[in-house]
Amino acid sequence: MESNSNDSSVSFVKIPTIKFTKLFINGEFVDAVSGKTFETIDPRTGEMIAKVAEGDKEDVDLAVKAARQAFDHGPWPRLPGSARARIMMKFPDLIEENVEELAVLDTIDAGKLFSMGKAVDIPFAAKVLRYYAGAADKIHGEVLKMSREFHAYTLREPIGVAGLIIPWNFPTGMFMWKVSPALAAGCTMVVKPAEQTPLSALYYAHLAKLAGIPDGVLNVINGYGATAGAAITSHVDVDAVSFTGSTEVGRKVMQAAATSNLKVVSLELGGKSPLIIFDDADVDMAAQLAIFGTLFNKGEVCVASSRVYVQEGIYDKLVNKLVEKAKAWVVGDPFDPKVQQGPQIDKKQFDKILSYIEHGKREGATLLTGGKPLDGKGYYIEPTIFSEIKEEMLIAKDEIFGPVLGLAKFKTVEEAIKRANSTRYGLAAGIVTKDINVANTVSRSIRAGNIWINCYAALDNDCPFGGYKMSGFGSSLGLEALDIFLKVKSVVTPLFNTPW
Ligand code: NAD
Repeated sequence: MESNSNDSSVSFVKIPTIKFTKLFINGEFVDAVSGKTFETIDPRTGEMIAKVAEGDKEDVDLAVKAARQAFDHGPWPRLPGSARARIMMKFPDLIEENVEELAVLDTIDAGKLFSMGKAVDIPFAAKVLRYYAGAADKIHGEVLKMSREFHAYTLREPIGVAGLIIPWNFPTGMFMWKVSPALAAGCTMVVKPAEQTPLSALYYAHLAKLAGIPDGVLNVINGYGATAGAAITSHVDVDAVSFTGSTEVGRKVMQAAATSNLKVVSLELGGKSPLIIFDDADVDMAAQLAIFGTLFNKGEVCVASSRVYVQEGIYDKLVNKLVEKAKAWVVGDPFDPKVQQGPQIDKKQFDKILSYIEHGKREGATLLTGGKPLDGKGYYIEPTIFSEIKEEMLIAKDEIFGPVLGLAKFKTVEEAIKRANSTRYGLAAGIVTKDINVANTVSRSIRAGNIWINCYAALDNDCPFGGYKMSGFGSSLGLEALDIFLKVKSVVTPLFNTPW
């Protein structure tokens, strides 16, 4: 690390008063039925930012009731797609008008880089909304070619009330990746942000109302997973759940769906993604991709390139470059424009990462740099690189979700493929090579939903994003993300007046 600027006494941005801390049900901000609240914590200091209403089963019931009413009797699912699109298009304009305040909320709530929030996360969220607004009037079925004399066609209808459960690592992105296609499809919804990061979701609810999204269409319930989250997944009046989070909780979501009303489920879960660097790679570019792929968003990224496989001919040069870059990586206050890595989300995650680092040392991996927390307040951890990781080690198997990169050396293309695939996850993989044949072979052999060749984590509206294996199923982004929010209905009628 070049410098350590986690001195929270230095102020880079004025923190605005927190405006929204209640639950958002049927177009109104309301207290929880129980009157309970919980604290949302600033990971830069470990101190409270605000007390937020704590939703539980009774609140979820009210939110689902409002969403059901809005679906069964309200205008939203009945509007022509173009009319939904017109309303949806106002929402991103309002987001852009408030970009600074929204970026502050995600920085104090999640420890995300303020500059990145302003330049990337929030503009991307606005872009995603516009993309799906553009899709709202292009959702249609097909005319079918029946074998007998019938006219038949399919309709694609909104599925109903959607439960959208999101994690804390991209509070803005995850909210918009789910809400936007659900709105375009004509669904109504109950969103549960992660308990660590409720603030921006509530602000988005306020903007949705200003944009003209009718009451009851978008409801937000803050609260804990085991209470508010579980009440959504087991609710018999919720028709679909789109969940992003850990594989462990994803399993519970499926169980709750199975034992309640067999609601449709999509799961975007964890990862342990490989980045494979071949001998012909440009060393500087490959090292940059590996560093960015692992340390971006302090490693709290589902597609983090946490296993880096390097071919033997380039290995030594690449390791030196990586260590040099990790040492120059600036950790500190996420409001400081020089800083590249802010604090981990909370004490629990901070302790978990440090315990994985201890495991790595005990398991025999070589610690090349980092491995320690920063002194002072807040949940900061040094960029950490281990070499000689083996697939059976915990640090190579488990998703650490922190700034920890594991390196291993390989000889052949076949070995790289085998080792990259030796994981229960299948979210993403990166390949660095100039050889098109190697790139083609490897990209088709890796069992993962997102493959990046000579780039990493290159996401776009139109590019479906999802997992293989225990990284889940169903897609975000792209037109595929609409699928979970739509049902296909076949309609058949005789072509001629023939008696049936
Ligand atoms: P988590 O699974 O602990 O929580 C995710 C959400 O589920 C939170 O809102 C939480 O309150 C809720 N939840 C917890 N228990 C629940 C239950 N029993 N029923 C219903 N909801 C419940 O995950 P996290 O720690 O917030 O996020 C980190 C995880 O998310 C990592 O594994 C990461 O890989 C994954 N993630 C995946 C993607 C992806 O697109 N694949 C994107 C971002 C994060």
